[in-house]
Amino acid sequence: MTKFFEQIGFAITSMAAVIFVLILTLLGLLMFTHTLFFEVLPSTITGWERYAASWLLALGWEFTLLITTCNTQFLNRKIPAIAAIASGIIVLFFIEAFEFNQPGIELFKRWFIGILVATINFIYTELFYAKWSRLQKQRDFEERISELESQVVAKDNELGATYLRLEKANADVERLVDYVAELEVFKKNEMDKLTCSFCKQIFKSVYHLNSHRTNCEMNPKKGERDSVFEAVV
Ligand SMILES: [Zn+2]
Repeated sequence: MTKFFEQIGFAITSMAAVIFVLILTLLGLLMFTHTLFFEVLPSTITGWERYAASWLLALGWEFTLLITTCNTQFLNRKIPAIAAIASGIIVLFFIEAFEFNQPGIELFKRWFIGILVATINFIYTELFYAKWSRLQKQRDFEERISELESQVVAKDNELGATYLRLEKANADVERLVDYVAELEVFKKNEMDKLTCSFCKQIFKSVYHLNSHRTNCEMNPKKGERDSVFEAVV
């Protein structure tokens, strides 16, 4: 049951409801203005031409009213109001509200109806425009949101790729650190091979070291030949 009322609520607040009433008032006013134009056209226009001219003029007038109200952002704000007043005057003419010889209550009734019809038309045109603008804005927002969503997905992918690259770089750095440590050990070993164990002097080659060792100042057995085991190869 609640759902039923909810649906009625949605139907009343929908764009379709506004358009429906707008079309009703437009059709009603079209009849009004058509008859009025039919009456005021010169008597030289007769037959089908008189009908066609009055219908076309009525259509032209009502659509002008609708289009100016819907395009107020490009026009002076007063134009739709002036158009609505003109439309009201047309209605008043049609329902003979200017025939002041009528009884007061009859005149009041006609003026009231005339103003009511013109107001309904104006309100619905305004409402239609407001709803239409909101619908457009909503569509723009939805487009923007999906655009932003795709941007987020792209950035996320980019982030994932960057993270992978970073992980690879980290692994490379770790490998390089190990390699440097190995190199340090290797360098130390190589240096040790060229260092005199007595005076810690470093030589260009094993040959130089060996020839120095026997004459090293700090060698306790200076002058003696190195044993085969002590000699560094
Ligand atoms: Zn030495």
